[in-house]
Amino acid sequence: MLVYLNGEFVPHAQARVPVDDRGFLFADGVYEVVRVYEGRPFLMDAHLQRLRQGLAALRIDDPGADGFADVAERLLDQNGLRSGDATVYIQVTRGAAPRAHAFPPAGTPPTVYVAAKPFEPHPPAYYRDGVAAVTVPDTRWSRCDIKSVSLLANVLANQAAKEAGAFEALFVRDGIVLEGSHSNLFAVYDGALVTYPACNYILAGITRRQVIDLAEQLGIPVVEAPVPLDRVFAAAELFLSGTTTEILPVTRVDGRDIGDGRPGPITQRVQRAFRESI
Ligand code: PMP
Repeated sequence: MLVYLNGEFVPHAQARVPVDDRGFLFADGVYEVVRVYEGRPFLMDAHLQRLRQGLAALRIDDPGADGFADVAERLLDQNGLRSGDATVYIQVTRGAAPRAHAFPPAGTPPTVYVAAKPFEPHPPAYYRDGVAAVTVPDTRWSRCDIKSVSLLANVLANQAAKEAGAFEALFVRDGIVLEGSHSNLFAVYDGALVTYPACNYILAGITRRQVIDLAEQLGIPVVEAPVPLDRVFAAAELFLSGTTTEILPVTRVDGRDIGDGRPGPITQRVQRAFRESI
């Protein structure tokens, strides 16, 4: 497999970054994951826009994010990924420099990595029957809107979910259920969708935005508001949204059934609309 590293296309096994890279030392960088359906990147422009916003927030010079769509196309071609399911991974760090917390000297080139690889979708039964989630305290920082490679809290939360036999961990901060370790959360009450507002406490998912747009087209009301934990248990339906998660019903939280313990009709409508939008 070929990958793109700092302007060159190189075999994956030969791609190397220095141990002084600030991504390695400080998790000082941002990333994107783009889903590829039948060889075509989905919502690439929105992902690149979020990447540019993240770079600006971290004050990392934009290394030419506009060109990443072309890089992705070339990787999909070269790696034989023009059919089936794949993902494109993009990461930019503040580059390599002797370890010091403050920024390295101006002109230090950011490290840029782009890879495309086959993606094994989750089993169809997950989408048909729903999955379980567990709640965990949100131990993250307060700039969760930046898609930083600093994912330690997300890693530990997702591992806790896995060990509990669940698909996703839902972060709870001050009694409010915000989002998953790698997905956004939607609840259904009286036929309307409720999801946490896009602010510094969640990542504003590209798929979340797509769901909101589709719901508006379907005439399903959407409310961006906090959902306390006890209200989550009282939801008629719950589902997750995400690039690799897609639209996934959640039928159990902390061992308790949501609604009748089956994916609900609103979730299924959103799933269908999402499929059609691809
Ligand atoms: N929240 C978090 C914490 C995530 O890591 C992700 C996955 N990127 C999402 C939400 C969903 O975002 P998207 O729809 O852009 O994949």
